[in-house]
Amino acid sequence: MTRYTNFRWGLTDEPMEMLVDDGRVVARETKVRTEVGTPRDLEGARLFPAFIDNHCHILPTGLDLAKLFLGAAVSREEVLDLVYVKHRELPPDEWLHAVHYDQNRFGDGRHLTRDDLDAVSPDRPILLRHQSGHASVANSAALRAAKVTEDEPDPSGGEFGRDANGRLTGVLLEDAHDRVTAAAPRPSRERMVEAILAAGDSMADYGIACASDMMTGFFDLEDELWAYREASERGCRIRLRLYVQWSTVFGPRAMPKERFRELCQAMDPDRCRVAGIKIFADGAISAATAAIYGEFTTGGDGRLIYSTERLRSMVRTANEAGYQIAIHAIGDRAVDEVMDAYRLLDDPRRHRIEHATMLSDGQIERLVDLGCFVTMQPEFLARFGPSYARQLGPDRASRLKRYRSCLDAGVRLSLSSDRPIVGGDPSFGLACAVVRPEGFDPNEGVERDEAIVLYTLEAARANEDANEMGALIPGQFADFRLETA
Ligand SMILES: [Zn+2]
Repeated sequence: MTRYTNFRWGLTDEPMEMLVDDGRVVARETKVRTEVGTPRDLEGARLFPAFIDNHCHILPTGLDLAKLFLGAAVSREEVLDLVYVKHRELPPDEWLHAVHYDQNRFGDGRHLTRDDLDAVSPDRPILLRHQSGHASVANSAALRAAKVTEDEPDPSGGEFGRDANGRLTGVLLEDAHDRVTAAAPRPSRERMVEAILAAGDSMADYGIACASDMMTGFFDLEDELWAYREASERGCRIRLRLYVQWSTVFGPRAMPKERFRELCQAMDPDRCRVAGIKIFADGAISAATAAIYGEFTTGGDGRLIYSTERLRSMVRTANEAGYQIAIHAIGDRAVDEVMDAYRLLDDPRRHRIEHATMLSDGQIERLVDLGCFVTMQPEFLARFGPSYARQLGPDRASRLKRYRSCLDAGVRLSLSSDRPIVGGDPSFGLACAVVRPEGFDPNEGVERDEAIVLYTLEAARANEDANEMGALIPGQFADFRLETA
């Protein structure tokens, strides 16, 4: 038993003591009455519940950590130097993946080409993923591996960059980028375990104690469930909550039900568990694929991924099987579709809407009425602000992510990151929720203490973990973080 002394409760600044036994809080009071336990002096630090990132991508975060980081490179020469050094380090048969490439940082904004990368290696596939996540530059070996030939037609939702003579430059946009990315070999199980452990380290360093993976089953459900369990058994520093893609559990090529149950039951639920089922209702604002009322300035009103009937039947299936459901819905039209589907269930309060980036006043009222959870990602406004303004115009863009209106109305809101799409440091996320970035209605910001509760207790509620964590009340896990003055 440990007795933590000499700290202030971060949310009220009250001096307190906390008694912890076997990883759980026994008491947290202004003065713990007993003198039991080994005292640990926290030297006046402020103590908070640890962060809970209830919407991110854990395995992809870890895989990206192992890739070459180009986010600080400001010239083509610098990028090529870094790529060359990485090339020398890697075993010969591996792809060289880099992330956070951005030609906008170069003086003239000109992309690297496949010829530049072929000069580093004509044989090893090299793929530099753009900062946006929607484009990349490939060398000739990567194009070959994806069976992209010189006379390849552009895919319907993408483009292979070409020079004045019609020759491929290696620049890949949207679906062309997806196609070449998909040609890279899948990570092995061992690589997955290492990636999850690395993601756990990085998140724990940010004060996160629990994270929810929002697309488990992207590569292969069986391998991923195995890897998450294995990582948790090898001491992953965060608790793992997994939201499994609908199709991998219920689709035509789903894993057999018995096998899925077996893999779920093999996990220690304190450390790692399947928390629910993930569905996508629409796309993203920056790509003009979110389903909205009205039109994007670049044209179109986005797209719903499923028909109304199809979405309702998917929701019904997962609900009847007893799972919590989390649905990605960014545009206001997608949010209505999801609310309509949830409304048909006996208990819509259990389920979640991810992002809910565009909301009208009427929709906020409906969300309160329905009682489902909503989680938003404040770092998005800092990261995607310019593309939101471009796609929606400054007026509509300024009203995105209405934290204040949701809280005041009584929506069951929480905050999260969506890392690795953004950096994922909750302290930066909180700052973005309190002071909204330039161009976004400042009245939709929240107080810092409110934001902390949204990133801890409210995040635990949306994970259906509120009995276990989020507020450091007796009985909960003693997952805390300290801020020193
Ligand atoms: Zn996500």
